[in-house]
Amino acid sequence: RKIRVAVIFGGRSPEHEISCVTAGGVISAIDTDRYEVVPIGIARDGSWVLYSADPGQLAIVDGRLPEVHTSGPELAVPFSGATDLIVLEGDSSRRLGGFDAVLPLLHGPLGEDGTIQGLFEMMDARYAGAGVFASAASMDKVFMKALFTGHGIPTGDYVAVPDRMWRGERKRVLDDIADLGGTVFVKPARGGSSVGISKVPDASDTDAVTAAVEAARRHDPKVIVEAAVPGREVECGVLESLEGGAPDVSQPAEIHVADGFDFYDFEAKYLSTSGLTIPAELPVEVVAEIRREAARTFEALGCEGLARVDFFYGDDGRVYVNEINTMPGFTPSSAFPQMWAESGLDYTSLVDRMIQTALRRAPGLR
Ligand code: ATP
Ligand code: MG
Ligand code: MG
Ligand code: MG
Repeated sequence: RKIRVAVIFGGRSPEHEISCVTAGGVISAIDTDRYEVVPIGIARDGSWVLYSADPGQLAIVDGRLPEVHTSGPELAVPFSGATDLIVLEGDSSRRLGGFDAVLPLLHGPLGEDGTIQGLFEMMDARYAGAGVFASAASMDKVFMKALFTGHGIPTGDYVAVPDRMWRGERKRVLDDIADLGGTVFVKPARGGSSVGISKVPDASDTDAVTAAVEAARRHDPKVIVEAAVPGREVECGVLESLEGGAPDVSQPAEIHVADGFDFYDFEAKYLSTSGLTIPAELPVEVVAEIRREAARTFEALGCEGLARVDFFYGDDGRVYVNEINTMPGFTPSSAFPQMWAESGLDYTSLVDRMIQTALRRAPGLR
């Protein structure tokens, strides 16, 4: 029989729509001779539905973003020892049957942050991607930075702004931020797709910093403020080795943010003419360093399956790791699959590789 793969998408984070686009790409590329897809949408309100519409609708059309509607049959989420989902149909219910692997194609909190991974562990499900801890640590830019520092991974300066400090010690926090000097980026500590991020040209402009922190806090009570790294933006894909050795690293991509954007914000990412150069045109030794640091970052965070590591190649000639994403954007036009295509792994093979790493995953502690 075919291998049954539950593809889970949507979710409760602001990256709901991007996750839908990712799922549209994966579902249409999956090798249907080998795999049977069970498409499961998580609506914004958190309900799980069996997605019965045409996956072709999971795409950006004329700048309109897709989403999961709660109209499909609702699913009961099992909490222990069962990958057997129950379909609820009015007063009756039926078993959907078990599945062999799960692709949680979810971005952001409650999807890419260890929470749903914890549910999969409880279910003994074999899922693609990072486990509970690696997902949580990679999603939280403050803990992520601490792990970078602990492993000697080069990264820019920052100030953590937890809720308690913002409410209780604001003056000291603003002084620490001013000490970063120059331009700063203010981010929700746990987010993605640049949602809630602002660029503030002067770290000592208290009013502008305060407005940016408040904007980030609309998404997360925990905020991080980072010194801007002037330079070029580069990304690199990482995949767990199927042989158990060091992870495989793709060719890096350089990001070219479309004209008229101040940085790679949500609109520049998905709704503009921003482009990629793959492989990035950088000195060979810089490419080698980026690829080495990508693998080190993957291992420092304890990642599994896949990840995309975001870099700056600073005007000072140094390489900085910006952040890691444990479920990178995976639409056919996203950087992650394109970097792998350029490295000899086409989109369908990449999806296959994700499923294979999930199937090999032993439930429980690894
Ligand atoms: P995603 O997960 O979609 O990659 P994110 O929401 O986790 O994005 P970041 O990648 O941290 O956000 O930042 C988004 C963008 O903001 C970067 O791609 C870059 O353009 C800009 N940026 C962020 N931090 C810095 C920095 N310290 N220096 C210069 N530019 C920055
Ligand atoms: Mg990110
Ligand atoms: Mg992300
Ligand atoms: Mg990023």
